[in-house]
Amino acid sequence: MSKTNKRIRIPLYMQILAGMVSGAVIGIAALQIDGAQFIYNWIYPWGRIFIRLLQLIAIPLVFISLVKGVTGLKDIGTVSRMGGRTVAIYLATTLAAVLLGVSAGLLVKPGMLIDRTQVAHIQEEYRSFAEDKKHLAETKGGEGPLAFLDDIVPNNIFNAAGDNSKMLQVIFFALFFGLAALTVVPAKVRPVIALFDGLNDIILRMVDYIIYLAPYGVAALMAGLVADFNGDTGVFSALGVYALTVTVSLLVLILLFYPLLLRIFTKIRLRKFMKDIYPVQLFAFTTSSSAATLPVTMDVAEKKLGISSETASFVLPVGVTVNMDGTSCYQAIAVVFIAQALGIDLSVTQLLLIVALTVLSSIGTPGIPGGSFVILTMVLTSVGIPAEGLALIIGIDRPLDMLRTSVNVTGDVVTAAIVDKK
Ligand code: ASP
Repeated sequence: MSKTNKRIRIPLYMQILAGMVSGAVIGIAALQIDGAQFIYNWIYPWGRIFIRLLQLIAIPLVFISLVKGVTGLKDIGTVSRMGGRTVAIYLATTLAAVLLGVSAGLLVKPGMLIDRTQVAHIQEEYRSFAEDKKHLAETKGGEGPLAFLDDIVPNNIFNAAGDNSKMLQVIFFALFFGLAALTVVPAKVRPVIALFDGLNDIILRMVDYIIYLAPYGVAALMAGLVADFNGDTGVFSALGVYALTVTVSLLVLILLFYPLLLRIFTKIRLRKFMKDIYPVQLFAFTTSSSAATLPVTMDVAEKKLGISSETASFVLPVGVTVNMDGTSCYQAIAVVFIAQALGIDLSVTQLLLIVALTVLSSIGTPGIPGGSFVILTMVLTSVGIPAEGLALIIGIDRPLDMLRTSVNVTGDVVTAAIVDKK
């Protein structure tokens, strides 16, 4: 969502907000005039097509960006020297962020602010989806405590890639493929890496194009949502509380969690860190892209914070794709919020699945504006929540994206500082 349309000077995120408002207005007006049927027949399908496009791109995006991220580790020597610690810290911080997100979502319950009678109506709408889900649950692996692991390992990659709810299997294959590539003679693997580089650029361009359609897609989805909720505006206050929950959780990461880690694991003075990291956070905030911020992140890490260039040039580029604490925290809250809004009670197994999926999928999220939104469609489907629920949150995604990107880059630098400490 970074680029602004050259002819229309309005930034895309403003267009999306405008789309959201117009969709709501169109929805309310259409409800008065002709009831929900007009919306369902003529407006809502456009929103569905938009969601389909996002879903369409999700599997190739995760697969290609993961392979690119892992093969970017250069050689297995570097991996064994720094990789173990880096990956361990990346995973641990991401897990902490997700647990914070899930707990915040469950505690604050922003989705519960939506009128329950409307939820019953919505549930009715999505019953056919629930039927699909039941069928999906039945076809899953065994029943025992390791059933979850059973589900991660696909027996056929094409079947896995042919089903958006099998993201974990695709992630498993991509990681396996990428790590194996690292052990093959570099001369042989180079063309493959170049191919994935090119593919990655093409996929990201496709994402750009789809995101350009967002204002229209959002308008149609909002209109559909107004019809679903019968014009009840309680949904907007629920959204406000959701945004606040995300914001406060992200601030907890920046103001409490990272300082604590720095204090325990490094000798860097907190005040100095906060001062030095500020431009990086600001850059991330304005661009909403960890990838675009990378040059600034590296510069500050090496020149200001004194992190060795060997560490910085390994940990930070990998972190851009692999480590997204802000994103994973936000995704956890978003999934819980959407489930609550649609009246879906999350079982313990589903909650565990959300934790695992958000941790793993944040690894495959590209560091671009709105990167995690595409991935979110797959997380939702995998947990058994209709991806259409995204319509609820897309309108206010950009400001939250800005915030979570700042958290993402901060997490990368904190990890680099910890890894660098001999
Ligand atoms: N914009 C985020 C980043 O670049 C990714 C996302 O959460 O959408 O880090």
